Amino acid sequence: MDSTLYINVRVIDGSGETPFNGEVLVEGEHISTVSKSGEALNTAGAKVIDGGGATLMPGLLDAHSHLSFTNTMDPVETALIPPEDHTLMCVKNARIILDHGFTSCFGAAATKPRLDVVIRDAIASGDIDGPRLLACSRQLGPTGGFNDERLPHLGDATPAMSVCCDGPEEFQRATREACRDGVDVIKIVPSASSMRWARLPLDEDTVMTEQEISTVCDVAHQRNRRVAAHARSAEAIQRCVRQGVDMIYHATLADEETLDALEEAKDRVFVGPAIGLPVTRLKAGEDRDAGPHAVSTARLRAEIEAVGACARELIKRGVRVVPGGDYGFECNPHGANARELEYFVNLFGCTPMQAIVAATSLAGDVMGQPGKLGRIKSGQFADLLLVDGDPLADISILQDRNNFLAIMKGGVFHKHPASRIQSFEQAAE
Ligand SMILES: [Zn+2]
Repeated sequence: MDSTLYINVRVIDGSGETPFNGEVLVEGEHISTVSKSGEALNTAGAKVIDGGGATLMPGLLDAHSHLSFTNTMDPVETALIPPEDHTLMCVKNARIILDHGFTSCFGAAATKPRLDVVIRDAIASGDIDGPRLLACSRQLGPTGGFNDERLPHLGDATPAMSVCCDGPEEFQRATREACRDGVDVIKIVPSASSMRWARLPLDEDTVMTEQEISTVCDVAHQRNRRVAAHARSAEAIQRCVRQGVDMIYHATLADEETLDALEEAKDRVFVGPAIGLPVTRLKAGEDRDAGPHAVSTARLRAEIEAVGACARELIKRGVRVVPGGDYGFECNPHGANARELEYFVNLFGCTPMQAIVAATSLAGDVMGQPGKLGRIKSGQFADLLLVDGDPLADISILQDRNNFLAIMKGGVFHKHPASRIQSFEQAAE
């Protein structure tokens, strides 16, 4: 079994506890031993990495990933990309995300039925580089919902990245089809109006019935899959909580009653504010009042304000709020995912340590492998980042891939330690 020993590293172990100087031994794909007290670990046969005082921390989690978004401003355009080309783009995006320290991604909608599935499987089999991935379905929603990209003169022949379903039976069928296709996560869009036609998105709209949501949850959970929902209105969020949705995105307009419902469900639900996209759209000065995707800067500001206030309150109440902010847009490209941690600090009132804990320690539960991901601890998968610098002093250093001296996933280096790290093979006696 291959083994790697990290020595002379400052360990941020993902638990939120004070960092310590120590040694970490990796055997096979797991962390086998963590030494805190200065006691030296047995190095026989191990490749020794002298970190020179660098930070060793768990690989990062992105809980809202769209690997099939292609860094355009309008993901609906991906409907026109032939599957062959699109698959290769996803291969590239997967590698870029891992290059930037993200070792776990929870899919939040693919734009073709099996894109996430084939990428997940190719990564898992070691054929391509990428993060651990939970594969998502296309987004499902009703006629006139955010998912409804159809042009009236083309109807169902309109190239679209989403699926339209009306009534429990159609949602049941679409969910079963997605399960057949091999996804881990079903994405639904219970709120917001059509992105193609709404000049001013009325995100307050609730568009799926409670029965439609419950049907999707029933089918998905029967098949041991998870349900993620784009839920902005208070009513949509509450319906999702009642019906057992596992991952709630945005939660923009949660009122007091909705916050209470989320708090009550905090042991079984995650909330992903996904604030990255509105923040960067605003930064990019994008004011599309004239276009068909009109989003005024005032509206973006209001969205950021509302999502920030909601996230701050949820974190205070102990709800598991996770990073992941719709990376894969022109203003918010794949690889920039660690911006989200900075937003946790600047917009959600977290300390850098709290941001790191949100992006690491919850990975096992989010990815459906509790106790196996997100911590530097014996028995966990060795998904590790060796960071040049102290992310607790400046959380933004995690945004620059050059600061990663090494990236390891499952005990295998994706990025080998840089030459300035003294690394040597120590032969077994
Ligand atoms: Zn999204």
